[in-house]
Amino acid sequence: MEEKVLIVEDEAGLVTTLRDRLHGEGYHVEVAQDGIEGLKRGSEESFDLVILDVMLPRKSGFDVCRDLRQRGVGTPIIMLTAREQTVDKVVGLRLGADDYLTKPFDMLELLARIEALLRRAPGTPIAFANTYKFGAVRVDFRRTEVFRDGEQIPLSAKEFQLLRYLIEHRGTTLSRRELLQEVWAYRGAGATRTLDVHIAWLRQKLEEDPKKPKLIITVPGLGYRFEG
Ligand code: CA
Repeated sequence: MEEKVLIVEDEAGLVTTLRDRLHGEGYHVEVAQDGIEGLKRGSEESFDLVILDVMLPRKSGFDVCRDLRQRGVGTPIIMLTAREQTVDKVVGLRLGADDYLTKPFDMLELLARIEALLRRAPGTPIAFANTYKFGAVRVDFRRTEVFRDGEQIPLSAKEFQLLRYLIEHRGTTLSRRELLQEVWAYRGAGATRTLDVHIAWLRQKLEEDPKKPKLIITVPGLGYRFEG
């Protein structure tokens, strides 16, 4: 299967070189020429990898990277940073980039990095993203910590696993049965009380008004849907 790569870069010469070379290696290549277009295409279309320049018109590569991760896009990102700007590397990785290369870079080096990222973990959305934000809440997956307005909210291990599952399937109605199976590995009937209690606790901790939940929606007769 042809893997899809999105190049977000405004330098026409570099775009041509990259596109031709990647195409020659068997990749399907799409190009966005500024940050706004890069964010739009990166979040609305499905790519296997994004090559993202830092210096872009309309929106910097850092902002694009951060916004893609905040929107839950887990596609591997390689950032292209300018020479002399070592701080870029640190910032880029903190914002959720997976790797970086300093310009001018060796094409073989780039191809090797692309290969490495594509082989690393196929089809695991959001797992690449270290953090996810909704409203005033920020979830740090690596540290398994949740913050609201910068203050840490204590969550039990099960609450965190449930929240992670909800986030990974946001926008999808999840049946009680699925949630119990996936989060509790529970195979029998019943036990929905356990789930409902955990949902209530999460709402208490995360919702602005737990009585009128806007993040974890009850779908009557079916289950729950995360809208964060
Ligand atoms: Ca550029």
